[in-house]
Amino acid sequence: MERNDVLVIGGGIIGVCTAYYLAERGVNVTLIERDEICSGASYGNAGLIVPSHSVPLSAPGVVAKGLKWLLNPESPLYIRFRLDFDLFAWLLRFWRSCTEEHVRKSLPLLITLQRDSLNLFEKFSSEGLAFGLQKKGTMTVFNTEQAFEDGVKEAELLREHGLKSEILTAEKAREKEPLLSEKIVGGVYFPDDAHLDPAAFVISLAGKAQQAGVNILTHTEVIELKSSGRSITSVRTTKGEWKADLVVLAAGAWSATLTRNLDIKLPIQPAKGYSITIQNPERIPSLPLMLNEVRVAVTPLNGRLRLGGTLELAGLDLSINQRRVDAIRRGASQYLPEIKGEGEEIWRGLRPCTPDGLPVIGRPSNLDNLIIASGHGILGISLGPITGKIVAQMVCGETLDYDLNLLNPDRFR
Ligand SMILES: Cc1cc2nc3c(=O)[nH]c(=O)nc-3n(C[C@H](O)[C@H](O)[C@H](O)COP(=O)(O)OP(=O)(O)OC[C@H]3O[C@@H](n4cnc5c(N)ncnc54)[C@H](O)[C@@H]3O)c2cc1C
Repeated sequence: MERNDVLVIGGGIIGVCTAYYLAERGVNVTLIERDEICSGASYGNAGLIVPSHSVPLSAPGVVAKGLKWLLNPESPLYIRFRLDFDLFAWLLRFWRSCTEEHVRKSLPLLITLQRDSLNLFEKFSSEGLAFGLQKKGTMTVFNTEQAFEDGVKEAELLREHGLKSEILTAEKAREKEPLLSEKIVGGVYFPDDAHLDPAAFVISLAGKAQQAGVNILTHTEVIELKSSGRSITSVRTTKGEWKADLVVLAAGAWSATLTRNLDIKLPIQPAKGYSITIQNPERIPSLPLMLNEVRVAVTPLNGRLRLGGTLELAGLDLSINQRRVDAIRRGASQYLPEIKGEGEEIWRGLRPCTPDGLPVIGRPSNLDNLIIASGHGILGISLGPITGKIVAQMVCGETLDYDLNLLNPDRFR
């Protein structure tokens, strides 16, 4: 049996950032990843750091829109209904969270955390970590008047919380991005957003973490967390058993499978999304775009172009539904008719989604030596560095800069 101070489970952005910030504090860390570093949701996502998207997924109006989408197999949202108690309980909690009150409580925290996370990304970039960080903002574009009106209202709400935006007529939006179609009706520009190459970030930070002393074990799967009383006593893996003073669970969409025997309620549903990365695009937008009605994100990535979208609640299923991939491409062409190019990579990943759209960060009350850092949903890249730093501060008993009650793992009990 091997011994360690802290064992981090999961080599996505959350696990790698956590391991790095722990090692920076002199903690002895081993990170266990069942595949390669960055082989989960952190690999092919849209790479956006978006304080502008701080309204949680569970917000008023979402259920009505979702029900409409459910009737269309190519829509941005799909639920594969099945006899699954966890899924129904999750949907019920999601529905209950879709209130103004929930948005009002969550917004300030999500905006603050994303801003502070961006500062940490900037620090890494200034220290020489190469991951293509660009602070050009993002522009959300609309092709229906109704959605544009809703988008303007949301920008006003965000402005009340200090987030800058510019409302653009169709003409002004096209001046900013000439590749946009004549059919768009307007846009909202968010200057404080940023973007990066997510895989380049996670892989290079894992290298930096190793240099700082983190022991990274890949191709090692955690099978079970064994507990007795108020402690995790050992971690059983495919390559032997480990003991640690403390365990950090950062296994993304798979986190809930490891808490089942621990009397912890962790309602995380995997929400599959796809991306298409065009390796040699003929033309490339100058800044990231969110294509509102089709819910597709368009990110320029160092000469490549990534289109990302769809949210499919289909369990831990990584199969590729070509119809939904094609829907992303078709959706994007409504706004960007000239986007084409040579060489494509199709990817899918599972976002770890909680029903209230907020991550889970903290110690469950029944175990003293477990910290959960998961459930980041659509914001895991944005919130990666700040989550890692917060967990490291928790482990080391440092005072936290935030009230994290909203993210408490016990909130689902
Ligand atoms: C299409 C798409 C677009 C997105 N765009 C954005 C965006 O623009 N901005 C943003 O902020 N977020 C975005 N996201 C969300 C973001 O990708 C996720 O929130 C984030 O990557 C989650 O990181 P993670 O480290 O929690 O999980 P993951 O990256 O999935 O990492 C979890 C790791 O744990 C490992 N693991 C699981 N089980 C075990 C086990 N038993 N033993 C050992 N290892 C295990 C897995 O192999 C995996 O490597 C997007 C997601 C998708 C799908």
